[in-house]
Amino acid sequence: MSFIDFHCDTLELFAVSAEPAGDLYQNSSAVDFCRMKQAGMKAQFFAMWMPVPYMVPYLKHPDVTRDGELLDDGYLRTLYAGFKRSVEAHPDMVMHTVTWADYQKAQAEGKMAAFLTVEDGRVVNGKMENIKALYDGGVSLISLTWNQKNCFGSPNSKDEQVMKEGLTDFGKDAVEYMNELGMIIDVSHLSDGGFYDVAELTKKPFVASHSNARAMSPHQRNLTDEMIRILADKGGIMGLNYCPAFLDEKAEGKDSRIADMVRHLTYIKNVGGSDILALGGDLDGIGGNLEIDSIEKTVHLFDALKKQGFTEAEIDGLAYRNAERVLRESLA
Ligand SMILES: [Zn+2]
Repeated sequence: MSFIDFHCDTLELFAVSAEPAGDLYQNSSAVDFCRMKQAGMKAQFFAMWMPVPYMVPYLKHPDVTRDGELLDDGYLRTLYAGFKRSVEAHPDMVMHTVTWADYQKAQAEGKMAAFLTVEDGRVVNGKMENIKALYDGGVSLISLTWNQKNCFGSPNSKDEQVMKEGLTDFGKDAVEYMNELGMIIDVSHLSDGGFYDVAELTKKPFVASHSNARAMSPHQRNLTDEMIRILADKGGIMGLNYCPAFLDEKAEGKDSRIADMVRHLTYIKNVGGSDILALGGDLDGIGGNLEIDSIEKTVHLFDALKKQGFTEAEIDGLAYRNAERVLRESLA
C-alpha cells in the first residue's frame, strides 16, 4: 500500500552515537529505507528535531555538544550529513526531494522521496536569510516551534496565556516568505494563537504534520474542532500521531492502539472532511507500547480502517492523495 508519512525523528540516530553507526538504509530504529520500500512508501519526511538540554547526556557525537552545551549548528550539520550520506549511497532506491518537481521525478523513476524538515525554527535565529539557507540546503518544511518560545512564536502550553500568544512580527513575515519560497509551514507544537495567525496569513495550504484531535484526547498538542475546520478550509492536512498521550490521555502515555487511531481519524473526518487526513506517526520520537512501532506496520492501520467502513478513496486520501495535494500546492 502506497503512503506518505509527514514526521519521524529517525535522524537523531546520527547524533546519539560517537561513530557514524548505521544509516538510514538499515538500522534498529523504527524507520529505514529497506522497511519503507517493503511497505511501499512514496515519501517520508525526516525531521531534524532540535534537542533540549536534558538530551545532552544522550548526544555522544563530538560535534553536537561542548562542555555540556548543545551546539545547534554542529547538531544540524551532523544530522544533515547522515541524511545525505544515506540517500546518496542508494540513488536507485531513494531521492532527496525538495520541490514538487523533485517528487514527481522520484515517482516517475520509481524511487522513494525523502524530504528534510526542521522541527523548532529556533535555528533560524530571527533572520530571513537563514530560512533561505535552509531551503537552499534542501529543507522543505519548518515546524515553526517545538515546546519553547522562539523567533517565530510561542509553543503549545498548558498555560492559557502562552497558548493564546500569536506569532512574533518575524514569524508573521516568515509565513509570507515561506509561501514565496515554496516551503511548507507546520503548526504542530505551535500555540493556538500561532495557529490562528498562520491560518490568517498563509496563502498556501499549511500542515499540522503530527497532531491529533483534542476532542478525542485533550492534550494541548492536539487540534480543536475549530482548528480542524480552519485547516481543512485552507486545504491543509493533519498527520495522525501515534504517540500514546495524543491518542488517549487517559492511557497515561502507555499504549498506542490502532483502535484509538481509527477513533481519531473517524472523528477528524466527521469534523473536517476526509481531505484533511494524513499520517505523521512520529516514529523514533515517541515511547510506549506501540502497535505500529515500525514503519511497515502502517498497513495494519489501513486494514483496520477498511473494517471500520472507510472507503477505498478515503483510505487512499489518508495514505497519500491528500499529502500529494499539499505538496503540489505548497512546494511551488
Ligand atoms: Zn514533534
